[in-house]
Amino acid sequence: MRSKFALAGLVLLLAALVLPVFARQPRVRTTINIPDIGEFKTLKCDFHTHTVFSDGKVWPDIRAEEAWREGLDVIAITDHIEYQPHKEDLPTSHNRSFEIAKAQGDQLQVTVIRGSEITRRMPPGHLNAIFLNASDTLEVDEWRDAVKEAHEQGAFIFWNHPGWTGQQPDGVARWYPEHTELLEKGWLHGIEVVNDGNYYPEAHQWCIEHNLTMLSNSDVHNPLNLDYDATPQGRRPLTLVFATDESPEAVKEALFARRTAVYYNNSLVGDERFLRPIFDRSVEVKNPSVTLTGTAGAHVQIRNTSDIDYQLDRDAAFNAIQAPKSLTLRAGKTVLVQLRSESKDRSGQERISIPYTVRNLKVAPRKGMPFLLDLDVTFVPGR
Ligand SMILES: [Zn+2]
Ligand SMILES: [Zn+2]
Repeated sequence: MRSKFALAGLVLLLAALVLPVFARQPRVRTTINIPDIGEFKTLKCDFHTHTVFSDGKVWPDIRAEEAWREGLDVIAITDHIEYQPHKEDLPTSHNRSFEIAKAQGDQLQVTVIRGSEITRRMPPGHLNAIFLNASDTLEVDEWRDAVKEAHEQGAFIFWNHPGWTGQQPDGVARWYPEHTELLEKGWLHGIEVVNDGNYYPEAHQWCIEHNLTMLSNSDVHNPLNLDYDATPQGRRPLTLVFATDESPEAVKEALFARRTAVYYNNSLVGDERFLRPIFDRSVEVKNPSVTLTGTAGAHVQIRNTSDIDYQLDRDAAFNAIQAPKSLTLRAGKTVLVQLRSESKDRSGQERISIPYTVRNLKVAPRKGMPFLLDLDVTFVPGR
């Protein structure tokens, strides 16, 4: 009798230990592999998200957990001020979604920033104000008064989805006198170059011309995994922020100092001073010295530790040796690059730089980033 009870107890104990493991998905965080640069950390950020407190479909704390799982460091909650489609079910409370999300962010060490979306017709369109002290005071009739209030709170203010087809049916972003007015008043600090996977080349150019911060955000309304996943190919658009740490103060300083790059769809968009060190720290040529005997080929191994598949095109005029016209440095992999001498009689040692352009690192709207593959080549005559 006693042993029967002992056996039943043991079975129950085992069930209690094992069942929770199988009963729910483990809470795991995926690392986003994009290297830090110089003295700055490369923070992965999304400064545009919605919750049920405007037209989103999730409770605010879920936004913090999604961000943690997906490897993000910073998010902003930016519910609409003027668009409250759930107000019959949930009373309007502009300050509340941030408070709920932040409590969860604090648990998980994800920085959550208070923001609001000032939601007006074009022009000026939709503007996000982040690093607010309070959101409810932005609910005023005139859009200028809302932006002024945000500015007086010290907010970082950016123009959202300037070519959104809801306001620009042809998808082309247009600059209006209202945007000049915002700029001249010091009330516009950045533009979304990418929103929800859409890249706006006009916005990219305006950021370069007017010294504005480039942003890339999801504008997610659904539960994140309905629209995106945590794989390098499937993840949401992100703003990379180069900051000393993840604190709101450091992130704000970096945003005002324009230390950002855009990360979306396996591409980076931004100033070369950020894209160059990211590329250089991601990529290593394992054997930069090669011997080419006759016309027999040799290989160079190039390792890429980042999550980005770098797509390279060789300068068409280069003909010092045979090298691939196009090349993909696969994320997290080492690739073999085949090289060959044109002549079997060539001899001697030469420093050869093969000019490539990294197509998916955009330093201007239609301009990739140049890269020289520097090699020490020993030519030995042969067959
Ligand atoms: Zn919007
Ligand atoms: Zn939005």
